[in-house]
Amino acid sequence: MKGAILVVEDEQAIADLVRAYLRRDGFGVVWARSGEQALEELSRHPVRLVVLDIGLPGIDGFEVCRRLRSRTGVPILILSARDDEVDRVAGLEAGADDYVTKPFSPRELVARVKAILRRAPGGGATVGEGPLAVGDVELDRASRTVTVGGEPVELTSREFDLLAALLAHPGVVLSRDRLLELAWQGEFAGGTRTVDVHVAQLRGKLGRPGLVETVRGAGYKVVP
Ligand code: CA
Repeated sequence: MKGAILVVEDEQAIADLVRAYLRRDGFGVVWARSGEQALEELSRHPVRLVVLDIGLPGIDGFEVCRRLRSRTGVPILILSARDDEVDRVAGLEAGADDYVTKPFSPRELVARVKAILRRAPGGGATVGEGPLAVGDVELDRASRTVTVGGEPVELTSREFDLLAALLAHPGVVLSRDRLLELAWQGEFAGGTRTVDVHVAQLRGKLGRPGLVETVRGAGYKVVP
């Protein structure tokens, strides 16, 4: 795997801590102090993951996240001083892969970074083997790619895992808790609303609103 971890953080002490721990684990690190600088750095270096603070001078982390998502599927781990549901959901809606709240343990942050990279395309993770398809939506678990009607669709690693879990059980109602187990594997058990947010994002990206059906009071199911 090539590329650095881009750390976007305006507070020097936190940036130094995050950089030190990531470097100790062998990661190359690029530091940006603002969202604007982060977007510049991203076009300058190959970046394999972004650690993104929300409270930044200039454009905030949510806006950086949205702008990154409009041009790349690079995994994003949000750092935030705020720990309420609205912010967490806003981060996921903006396209982040995971979320860590300040004050955080640097070890935990590095563990989350590694977990995201294991799931990311080319990161070495496999969610089962072989392709899955329902209708014209096709998912290849080996290459972690998705096409709709033969056209590639870019998903975040979490959206990919969620779609893989759903497509592996066509016609079966999967509860939100079960989907958290399958696609989140026990990490970031942030509540079932997280599943709803990601299903909504998947529906939007796939353009097949009938594919994933909401089963009232029960969960979701893929309509085969
Ligand atoms: Ca900050």
